[in-house]
Parts: sequence; structure tokens; C-alpha cells
Amino acid sequence: MANKRDFYEILGVPKNASEEEIKKAYRKLAMKYHPDRNQGDSAKTAEEKFKEAKEAYEMLSDAQKRAAYDQYGHAGVDPNMRGGPGDGFGGGFAEAFGDIFGDMFGQQRGRGGRQVYRGSDLSYAMEITLEEAAHGKDAQIRIPSWDNCGTCHGSGAKPGTQAKTCSTCHGAGSVQMRQGFFSVQQTCPHCHGTGKIIPDPCTTCQGQGRIKRQKTLEVKIPAGIDDGMRIRSAGNGEPGTNGGPPGDLYIEIRLKKHEIFERDGDDLHCAVPISIVTAALGGEIEVPTLQGKAAIDLPEGTQTGKQFRLRGKGIKGVRSSYPGDLYCHITVETPVKLTEHQRKLLRELDESLKKGGAKHSPGEGSWADRLKSFFS
Ligand SMILES: [Zn+2]
Ligand SMILES: [Zn+2]
Repeated sequence: MANKRDFYEILGVPKNASEEEIKKAYRKLAMKYHPDRNQGDSAKTAEEKFKEAKEAYEMLSDAQKRAAYDQYGHAGVDPNMRGGPGDGFGGGFAEAFGDIFGDMFGQQRGRGGRQVYRGSDLSYAMEITLEEAAHGKDAQIRIPSWDNCGTCHGSGAKPGTQAKTCSTCHGAGSVQMRQGFFSVQQTCPHCHGTGKIIPDPCTTCQGQGRIKRQKTLEVKIPAGIDDGMRIRSAGNGEPGTNGGPPGDLYIEIRLKKHEIFERDGDDLHCAVPISIVTAALGGEIEVPTLQGKAAIDLPEGTQTGKQFRLRGKGIKGVRSSYPGDLYCHITVETPVKLTEHQRKLLRELDESLKKGGAKHSPGEGSWADRLKSFFS
């Protein structure tokens, strides 16, 4: 109690602040230091600040207490001397701030005083080609949507019957549970938050009050999108309960396997097979890119595994300023299904190469040396 901070100072308002100013200042602090927003290392300090702000507000928002505090300071409103509610979210607190905490908890109070809940998020997997990912795409997808049931007009009760107030929560849709420092409101397990029990459900909608349908949604797939990325479509999830806001729809991108290219972030890779003749003699070869054909000037004696980089022929990622590169990986192909004549030519070539010694086969010479030392 000794070094308690001044209530006005805690809220950061002047001594002559209006009720509205005090409320506003408190809301700001409560949002900032609310335990749901402060986890980890800062949690303890935040909790202290939260408690402090709450106490300051409770005092200054009550005209009688404020007058006592103004006159006698902390002694005038010593919590040990007064009754009333202790810590927690009960009573007037939740009522005064239901709106701000509604944004934070994903729930708020409905008009009838019942708890309203935000609908669940939905996720939709969309498979696209590499070209579509590179260039972007306007897609249409079919997603579920919900309409009010025409038979019961949304009540969920069979025509001629009525829903009854839930006896567990007395229509509130939620029950109070204490969890340490906080008194937490939880969805009523009996009526699942609706506050009502339907003894005779409508047969058209099975008591849901709404019917699931399909609707078409236009989705813009941004150029550069990659496998595993998600696009959020606000408000296209499941509808909320008791008039709560709907959830969101998340479109998850899956990239189809491409026949030629493999993607690695913004870079592309492709294998380019060449004949032994091209490999030996060199020359211009044609390679594919996403933008069309490109040429590579192969040097004489190109070996398998050699890479050629084509700058800027990759993909420009969603958050990238420049496109990536295309890497062409050379594979020298061994000729197959040879005719007798071709075999003869190869044998002649082999004889001729052998006469030249190791200089014609850069790998084989050192390989022979390595084998020799291995077996000796
Ligand atoms: Zn119905
Ligand atoms: Zn209930």
C-alpha cells in the first residue's frame, strides 16, 4: 500500500478527466495488458499492469469512490476497508466492456443478452499448376454457404412447436467457470451457446435453423504464390452462433508436379539430356523456360552434372522484387538400341581414343589411379 501509484497517473488522465475520458483510457490499457494478448516473458508484468489499471478504473468510475479518493487519497478507498467484488471479470466489468473484449475473445453479447460466437474457419485445398502459380490466376471455387431454413424460418423448431429456454444456463448460452485469477465464461455444454433447447426439431434442417448450400466464389491467386501458402477470404467461413460474425475461409495452395521444372522457392530446376556427340563437340542447345524457349551455348567436352544458370528465368515470388533463376542440369545420355554399323563405328572411335591415352577421358585417368592405389 505504501508506494501505491496514483490512480490518475496509472490511467494517464488529468485529475479533472471526464467519465468518458477515464473509460477510454482504461479500455486502451485493458486491451494492451490483457492476459490473452501478453504471453511468455511479459505475461507477469502485463498481469500486474492489468490489475492496476482495473483497480484504478473501478475507483475512478464510481463517483462516490472517486470523491473519497480525491479527498483522502488511497486511504479513502483502501480495498481492505470496502466490500464488493474482488478480482475477476464478473458483473459490471464484463457488461461495460463486453464490446471491446468481444473483439478479443471472438465472442460478444447478443441483443438478447445471450453469448454470440464467431463461426469456425474453413479451409479449402486448391491444386494449381506451376504456370498458374507463376502468372497468377482468377479462379472460381465452390464453397459451402448457409441459408435460413424456409420451413422453420431459422428457429430450428418444427412448425407449431417452440424452442425452450435452456435449463442449465437459463438462456444465457454460457456458464461462469473460475480459473485462478479469472472468472471465465464458457459455452454452455447443454445448449452449445444458443441458450435454447429444441424439443421438437424441424425435420428440414434437423433443428439447425439453416441449410447448407453451395456458392461460387471468385478467388484471385496472386502471381508467385508457392506450395503451402494460404489465401484468406474474410467472412466466408461457417456462420456464427446467435448472430455472431462468420469465420474466414482459407484457401491452401498445392502445386501440381510439373513435367519439366522443379521449383525451389523462386528458383526453377530442370534436367537437360544431351547426346554424347553434343557433349563432346559442344554447340547450341535449346532449353525450355516458363517464358518460352532459350538457348545455351555448350562448350566442347561438357560433362554430366554440369549446371547452367539462366538469370531471371525463375519465378518472381509474391514478396520478391526480382525473379529467381533457372538452373539447367546437364545429363549426357548413353545411346541405346544400336545397329551393327553404329557398334562398329563406336569400336573404331574407342580404338582411336585409346591411342590418345588418358587425355581424352578426364575422369577415367584419375579413376584408374584411384583404383590402383585402392587395390595395392
Ligand atoms: Zn428448419
Ligand atoms: Zn444452455
